[in-house]
Amino acid sequence: MTDGVYMFSVGDFKCVSISDGSQLIDAQMLPTFFVGSTNDELARTLRWHGLSPDYLDLQSNCLLIDTGDERILVDSGGGSVYHAVLGKVVPGLAAAGYQPGDIDTIVLTHGHLDHVCGGLDKDGAFVFPNARQIMARGEWEYWTEETDAAAMGAALVADVQFTQDCLRALRSQMTLIEPGDEIAPGIRSIATPGHTRDHMSLAVTSGAGRLICVADTMDLPIHIERTTWHPAWDQAPEQAMTSRRMLLRRAVEEDALIHAFHFPFPGLGYVREDGDGWRFEPYE
Ligand SMILES: [Zn+2]
Repeated sequence: MTDGVYMFSVGDFKCVSISDGSQLIDAQMLPTFFVGSTNDELARTLRWHGLSPDYLDLQSNCLLIDTGDERILVDSGGGSVYHAVLGKVVPGLAAAGYQPGDIDTIVLTHGHLDHVCGGLDKDGAFVFPNARQIMARGEWEYWTEETDAAAMGAALVADVQFTQDCLRALRSQMTLIEPGDEIAPGIRSIATPGHTRDHMSLAVTSGAGRLICVADTMDLPIHIERTTWHPAWDQAPEQAMTSRRMLLRRAVEEDALIHAFHFPFPGLGYVREDGDGWRFEPYE
């Protein structure tokens, strides 16, 4: 199988986890993924997970769900314009046998640029010409109408403006829904606010197969064990932790596979109860 493309199934649905690339996080930035940890706790936990304290290779994993009737892409990735290291979703789809024109629906879990900007090429043309893009209404409004980029912190201004421009350019493809709405038979959005205002996850059901797309409710497997640690850019950290714990409980109850956008590729595994908490078991 091609690097960065992993095929699996959920009931009758054919699924492909597709790497959009990865971003190198340096030693200075790394602790910002784990606000709430002490230096000692973080050093010990990284060691336990076999991770370096000097850098983090943050993956981006998009997901294709082919229901037979519809081809649904979960997040379009970062595109190749802003981050030269991202934008690998189209070659990944091709390796799995799909062309951009085959995609019927793109679900945007939230308005961060590594999730929504893959829909435009460098000339501003639609990458997925036949797709409708689905986003939570509140999330769309937040990013396109209300957001004052400067208010989100000087370091983020360029990111936020790029995202806003990108989303506005996609407007004619956009269908807005309420979190919790059904997207297609067997695919329903789940309201998981906190990381962003109306961040959405997805529940995928086909036959006995269960998959939960957790998107950015957890960035790394460490966030499954340490549910009080969170990235510095969670907009509402308490609410984000509540959303994360709700999904972890649900994944255990349903014995559902999870797909996590930023986990090590292919981002798939099970959540297991462990003492009072949880741990991640990668999918073999
Ligand atoms: Zn992300």
